[in-house]
Amino acid sequence: MFKCQVCKVQTLPGARAHRRIVETRETEYPTRARVHFVPDPDRKKQKRSRRKKADDPGGRGREIVRELLVCADYAPAS
Ligand SMILES: [Zn+2]
Repeated sequence: MFKCQVCKVQTLPGARAHRRIVETRETEYPTRARVHFVPDPDRKKQKRSRRKKADDPGGRGREIVRELLVCADYAPAS
């Protein structure tokens, strides 16, 4: 049960809430060294290989700035 942030109507108990993105922004992610696990192709070495890490190159993307909790009538199409 929640109040829709678009039509301001209180929903019935058990009604599903949807999130509608209303604002995003361009963002840059920095390079991070040795953060991803890389499985060893040789399964016998699995335990020792847990320390194997690959770098994350970082990059650009979009992140959510603001989103609204809405009823099914205003849910984004998908
Ligand atoms: Zn609504």
